Amino acid sequence: MFTLISLPYAPDALEPVISAQTLGFHHGKHLQGYVNNLNAALPGSGFEDLELEEIVRKASGGIFNNAGQILNHNLYFTQFRAPGQAGGDGKADAAPVGTLAAQITKQFGSFEAFQAEFAAKGAGLFGSGWVWLSADDKGELVITQEPGAGNPVTKGLRPLLTFDVWEHAYYLDYQNRRPDHLKALWSIVNWEEIERRYTR
Ligand code: MN
Repeated sequence: MFTLISLPYAPDALEPVISAQTLGFHHGKHLQGYVNNLNAALPGSGFEDLELEEIVRKASGGIFNNAGQILNHNLYFTQFRAPGQAGGDGKADAAPVGTLAAQITKQFGSFEAFQAEFAAKGAGLFGSGWVWLSADDKGELVITQEPGAGNPVTKGLRPLLTFDVWEHAYYLDYQNRRPDHLKALWSIVNWEEIERRYTR
């Protein structure tokens, strides 16, 4: 049985980037729905005793979709913090830290160039899905678009950062303005958490 993760911040902590109303539906209704669906589908499936990531790597159909969405949202919701909250570097503006910051500069030239590519791939993804920053087994960074419930673990990559471009993630606050939503998300990324995922 899988359970709904608890949010590591208050429901209104991410305002005005993500409203308490959006967060309530996204976490309390959409993610809870995926958890309920997976738990209902697991008995007798052969996947009952597997870890979530292993289910995502091995399953297909409805079990893949619901397990993938749980894994995706668990990574998504735990990568944010309140906007303007000072990071480990003491700066109010969220920016990468540590070895990840150096790798981003090395591969993309600058944080701004990385942001531009990531945002363009998020804005350009047709329909519902996710844009991901991942690392390969050598620590090289990769940006990928994943439709539906896709997660880069199915490509042997380690997921670090993701923006959810399903309309349920932003429609109450931004309606059709997906690029504006993606731009705002940068101010709530918890880069210490992304660095932890990168150096794990
Ligand atoms: Mn979502």
